[in-house]
Amino acid sequence: MHKFEHNYQNADGIVEIAKDGLCHRCGACVGVCPVGTLATDKSGYPEIVDSCIDCNICVNACSGIAVDYDGIGKRLFGDAYVNDDPMGVVRNAYVAHAADQAFHRGGASGGVVTQILSFLLESGAIQGAVVVVEDPDDPSLGKGIVARNREDLLRSQQSRYTTSPHLSVLNEIKDDDGRFALVGLPCQIHSLRKRQDMDPRWKKRIPLVIGLFCHYNLPTEVSRQVAAAVTPPGLDVRHVKYRESGEKGWPENTLDLEFSDGSHWHSPYGPAQTFNVLSRVTKLGRCLQCLDATAEFSDLSIADPWIRDEKGQWKYHDSDGWSSITVRTEAGQAAVSDAIAAGALVATEIPVDEIRKGQWQMMMEKREQTAFRISARRLFRLSTPDYPSPLASVSWTTARKEIAFWIMRLVPLIPAIRRLVMRIAFSPFFRRFFVEPRIAARKRNASGSV
Ligand SMILES: Cc1cc2nc3c(=O)[nH]c(=O)nc-3n(C[C@H](O)[C@H](O)[C@H](O)COP(=O)(O)OP(=O)(O)OC[C@H]3O[C@@H](n4cnc5c(N)ncnc54)[C@H](O)[C@@H]3O)c2cc1C
Ligand code: SF4
Ligand code: SF4
Ligand code: SF4
Repeated sequence: MHKFEHNYQNADGIVEIAKDGLCHRCGACVGVCPVGTLATDKSGYPEIVDSCIDCNICVNACSGIAVDYDGIGKRLFGDAYVNDDPMGVVRNAYVAHAADQAFHRGGASGGVVTQILSFLLESGAIQGAVVVVEDPDDPSLGKGIVARNREDLLRSQQSRYTTSPHLSVLNEIKDDDGRFALVGLPCQIHSLRKRQDMDPRWKKRIPLVIGLFCHYNLPTEVSRQVAAAVTPPGLDVRHVKYRESGEKGWPENTLDLEFSDGSHWHSPYGPAQTFNVLSRVTKLGRCLQCLDATAEFSDLSIADPWIRDEKGQWKYHDSDGWSSITVRTEAGQAAVSDAIAAGALVATEIPVDEIRKGQWQMMMEKREQTAFRISARRLFRLSTPDYPSPLASVSWTTARKEIAFWIMRLVPLIPAIRRLVMRIAFSPFFRRFFVEPRIAARKRNASGSV
C-alpha cells in the first residue's frame, strides 16, 4: 500500500486538514471515529467535541488529503483498472428510469438511484441505505440519514448541489451487522473505500456503493450567498431545491428557494447555466483539486444522459427524465439486473461509448484543470492532495482558460461586489444579452456538466 507523506495526525490533524483547504466535507472522519470525538459544524466541517484516543482512523480514511487511485482501483477491480481512463472500469451501460411514478417524476434525472434502493430494501437485500436529505436545521446543507423505508427514500430524492457531510451518519451503523447501500459523490466514495481497505467489516456492512458523476459541487456558502442576494427583506429561506422537476420537467428544472411566506425565487436559467454562473462568482474550495468525475470506485455510477443522436439531438430528454447507469462490478450488475427483472426499472442497454462521448469534455476538463491547479499550487507551496499517480498533461488552451478563470475569481473575494455580480447575473437583461447566446453555442457542443 502506498505510504502517504503528510503530518496530519488524529483529531487535531483533521482540524488542520480543514484549515489547509483540503477538506471537501464528506463527514467520513466524524462517521468512522470509534469514540465520537468529532462532529460536523454549521458549515459541514469537522470539529472536535470530545477527547481523542489517538487511533488516527479518521486521518487514514480522509480522502481530502490523499487518494491512491491505482491502489484502490487495483484492489477493487484487479488489472481491469487503468488509471488514465476517466470512465473507470465498465462492465455494462444502460439508460433507465424508475417504474414507480413517484421515484421517476421526483428524481434528479430518471429516479434510478432511489428506485434501486427501494427495490433492494423491499426484497430484503439491504436493511438500509445511506443517503442525503435536506438538513432540517439549515436548508443550505445536506444531511445524511440511513433510509429504511419508502418515506425516507422519498425525502432523499434529487441532487443537492451543496455540502453534504453525510458520511457522518456511518456512526449509526458502525456496530450493525446488517447490510447497507451507500449513495455518494466520488470524493465521499474515496473516503469509504479507504476505510473499507483498513477494516473489512465495512466491506461486509456496505456491499453496494452507488456513485454519482460529479463535475463539481457548490459549497453550502454558495446557497447562503444566493439566499442573501435574493431573499426579500423580513423573510427566511425555508427550502432550497437544486433541480426540482416542477412543471417544466427534466432537464429544464432549476434552483428554487422557498421563503417563509410560501413565495419562491427561481433561477432564470437551467441547472447547468445556473451552476456555471455560480461557479464563477463563488469559491469552490476543494472541488478545484478533484480528479474523479465518474465515481470510478462505485459498484454502479448514475448520471444524466447527456447523449446525442447522429443528428445532434438529445436522445433521452423527455420531460420525466432518464438516468444513465455505468455498471462496474458484479454486485452492481446484480442490483441492476434484479431490479430490471422485477419490473422496477425500465432500462435499455447501450454501448458505454454513448456515455463516454457525452461526458468526455467534462471528464477531460476536470482532469486537466485539476492538474494545472495542483501544479500551480505546488509552485506557490500551497497544500494539495497527495495523488501518487501521474497527473494529466495540460494543453495551452486549458492553461489559458485557467488563467482567465482565476482572474475572474478575484471578483467574489469582496462580498459586496459578489452580491452585486449575483444580482446582475440572475437579471433578465444579463440572461437575454449574455447568457442566451452562450447557451445556444453550448447546445451545439454536447457536454455532460452537472
Ligand atoms: C453535486 C453533484 C454533481 C453532479 N454532477 C453531475 C455531472 O456533472 N454530470 C452528470 O451527468 N451528473 C451529475 N450529477 C448526478 C445527477 O445530478 C443525478 O444525481 C443522477 O443522474 C442520479 O439521478 P436519479 O434521478 O437517478 O437520482 P434520485 O433518484 O433523484 O436520487 C438522488 C440520490 O442522490 C443523492 N444525493 C443528492 N445530493 C447528494 C450530495 N450532495 N452528495 C451525495 N449524494 C447526494 C441522494 O441521497 C439520492 O440518493 C451530480 C450530482 C450531484 C449531487
Ligand atoms: S479517536 Fe481516533 S478517529 Fe476519533 S478523532 Fe481521535 S484519532 Fe480520529
Ligand atoms: S474525512 Fe472528509 S470531512 Fe473529514 S477532514 Fe477529510 S475530507 Fe474533511
Ligand atoms: S468535485 Fe470532487 S471533491 Fe467536489 S463534490 Fe465532486 S467529487 Fe467531491
